[in-house]
Amino acid sequence: MKSDLISNRVVRRFAFRAAFALPLAVFSGDVVAAPYWRLSGIMLSAMCGDAAAAPSQAPSGNALGTAGGDAAAAEPNASIQYRALEPGEVVLIAVEGNNRAIPPSGFFGRKTLSFFRASGGAYLAFAALDLGISTGTRRIDLELTGTDGRPHYWGAELLIHPKQFPVQELNVDPNYVNLRKTDAERAEIEADRLHDIFARKYSPQLFKGNFISPIPGALTSRFGERRVFNGVLKAPHSGADLRAPEGAPVQACAEGKIAFVGPMFYQGNTVILDHGAGLFSLYAHLSKILVREGESVSQGKILGQVGATGRVTGPHLHWGTQLGAARVDPFSIVALDFSRWLPRRPASPSATKAAPSPKYPDRSTR
Ligand SMILES: [Zn+2]
Repeated sequence: MKSDLISNRVVRRFAFRAAFALPLAVFSGDVVAAPYWRLSGIMLSAMCGDAAAAPSQAPSGNALGTAGGDAAAAEPNASIQYRALEPGEVVLIAVEGNNRAIPPSGFFGRKTLSFFRASGGAYLAFAALDLGISTGTRRIDLELTGTDGRPHYWGAELLIHPKQFPVQELNVDPNYVNLRKTDAERAEIEADRLHDIFARKYSPQLFKGNFISPIPGALTSRFGERRVFNGVLKAPHSGADLRAPEGAPVQACAEGKIAFVGPMFYQGNTVILDHGAGLFSLYAHLSKILVREGESVSQGKILGQVGATGRVTGPHLHWGTQLGAARVDPFSIVALDFSRWLPRRPASPSATKAAPSPKYPDRSTR
């Protein structure tokens, strides 16, 4: 009896993977929602979200690519949303009409997707395109379950475009480039600690809607820049730098729980916010920290003040976001519209619309 169960599961899993090994129709140009194909009784929808036809044709700033199947169908269906298909971007996967007892499962490439349930009953998951992702085609393969308990299969093919990141030459205190032994050891311990925090087990999402910038109106340097410190090539920039004067308030981009506060070698005074669903935001180089570890914060909560601690050329906020081990541009998350599935209640103490704030001058600091 037990072996039957196991073999059934193996066969089912094999059918799931085999279904997606079949060639799928590919659409070029803008995203096209495709009809369903029935293959050996398996329902399969295929689409290719290709936001830019050519690498030179950069997708416009906040234009969101979306793809979805037949929304009118009573059967479960998935859709995807993203700003661009490039290294450092996030793809949001939404499943509607799924059986409430059996969450969707699936893969992005070889990575298992973790679905969380939104307030309206939809299931959401993130597929992260890490800063270092190789370009080319990646698949999203989902196994959904109808309200009648029958499995449904959904697939999409994403074409990840190459991206040229500009090179930045920066001059900082030489002690941050040629590290003393004690500093090198400290930086290594801190990197391990960050790794452990970002690897924390998936938990239900804590954020309740769209994300906002921690310093609305501040000018930003680009995520992913290749950085040369004092003539030495270092790791690419894994966050966005928001330029603001020392003491400017830094607010939480969304609801979450404070996972870490404290000084770090490179990052200076740092706050890390756990938003659940494997998503973290990091605020670095602060002059002052105004929250405690373990504290739950609402969107807009002042976490600290802009400073110039750690490896910097002047006061600014370094804002990073991580999805597990993947480094993603925080503004690719700000660009996502969760409101259909996570409508932040108007009674929320913080407004979803950012209050008008001063435009801070460009001080060209990092
Ligand atoms: Zn930075």
